[in-house]
Order: sequence, then structure tokens, then C-alpha cells
Amino acid sequence: MVDEQIISRGVRDPRVLAAMRKVPRHEFMPEALRQQAYGDHAMPIGEGQTISQPYIVALMTELLELKETDRVLEIGTGSGYQAAILSELCEKVFTIERVKTLADKARSVLDRLGCRNVAMKVYDGTYGWKEMAPFDAIIVTAAAPDVPSALVEQLKEGGRLVIPVGERFTQDLKKVIKSPSGLVTQTSIPCMFVPLIGAHGWKE
Ligand code: SAH
Repeated sequence: MVDEQIISRGVRDPRVLAAMRKVPRHEFMPEALRQQAYGDHAMPIGEGQTISQPYIVALMTELLELKETDRVLEIGTGSGYQAAILSELCEKVFTIERVKTLADKARSVLDRLGCRNVAMKVYDGTYGWKEMAPFDAIIVTAAAPDVPSALVEQLKEGGRLVIPVGERFTQDLKKVIKSPSGLVTQTSIPCMFVPLIGAHGWKE
């Protein structure tokens, strides 16, 4: 998976590649689909949601430029796979999911795998997690119509926000850097995520 899908497409950060090699992706998949856990695509995880394609997980993680001491916020826990990758690369992960059944499942897998630095809550993540802010990096793994302002506010100076922004079914992956002179936005690749649903996202 790492050689054929991730390195071949240009992801190079050795820490990201090591995390992608280490975390057992099949553990985050429904039993019936585990055979396909290392395939080059997103997969259904129930509740109409998906676990992202491995390459997208690696690319988004690389764009976050994580340091071991960083505190990171994820919006859209889903299966918990991305949270497990983040937990290998930084000090503390905060992750928010709006669907309780998915959050409960993700919590039990993360606990079983010993990811002890992941805090989770069931909430509308478009508000961020104010009590735990500011964050060194924020990753949104659902498609937003715009960048939610609460997330930018909760980013430290020098912080990075990676988020798919665009229409409901097609988006561009964006990286927003909170630099001392203002926000710098870079556009990465086109992508396709399930919608971010909430007060500062899409309506249900
Ligand atoms: N990162 C996940 C991918 C999850 S798919 C993984 O590694 O498996 C996107 C997830 O975002 C879905 O589970 C969906 O329920 C959740 N979501 C959508 N809108 C949300 C919101 N406003 N707050 C929190 N989670 C949200």
C-alpha cells in the first residue's frame, strides 16, 4: 500500500510513511470488507460514511507538517483511522464526530490498539473544540462549503488547517496557514469527501 499508492504519488515525509506502515487499517473496517482494507480507494464504514483512500490520508497528514509536540484537532472521526495515524505523529489528538455510533466504534478500536493520546467527543465539529484550543494543526475529513471561521480562530499562529472545500460532491483540498502577516491559502489536489454537516457546514 505505502510503496504503490503513497510513495509513488509523491508523499515523502518519513514519519508519515512510518505511521502508514504501522497502523493496521483493516482494524478500522467493517468485518465483511477487511479483505479490501489495503486497496486504493475509500470504503463504506456504515451510517453512509466512509474511511478515506489511504493516499488521501497520507497526503493530508503530510500537509499538516506535524511535530512530536503538536496538539491536533480532527473534525470527522469516522472509523478512527486518521486519528490513529495522527496519534503516532504528535503529542495529543482531539477528534470530533457527529454520529455517536461511529464515535463509539472508533473509540473501542483506538483503545484496543493502545492509542492513548486521542480525546474524542460527539458534537458538531464546525464549532471546533474551544476549551482545548489553540491547536498547532487542524484536519477536516469531510467536505466543507467554506472554511469554518471557528476553526481558523482556534489555530495557533503558524498553525496549519487542511480541509476539502467546494461543492457537495467535488472539492479541492486546501491548506490554510495562519502566518503572522495573515492567512495564506494553498490549493492541493481535487478530491471527493462526504459532506461536513453542521452549523458552519452543509445543512442535513
Ligand atoms: N477521518 C475518517 C473519515 C471519516 S468520513 C476516517 O479516518 O475514517 C467523515 C466523517 O465526518 C463522517 O463520519 C461524518 O459523520 C463526520 N462529520 C460530518 N460532519 C461533521 C461535523 N459537523 N462534526 C463532526 N463530524 C462530522
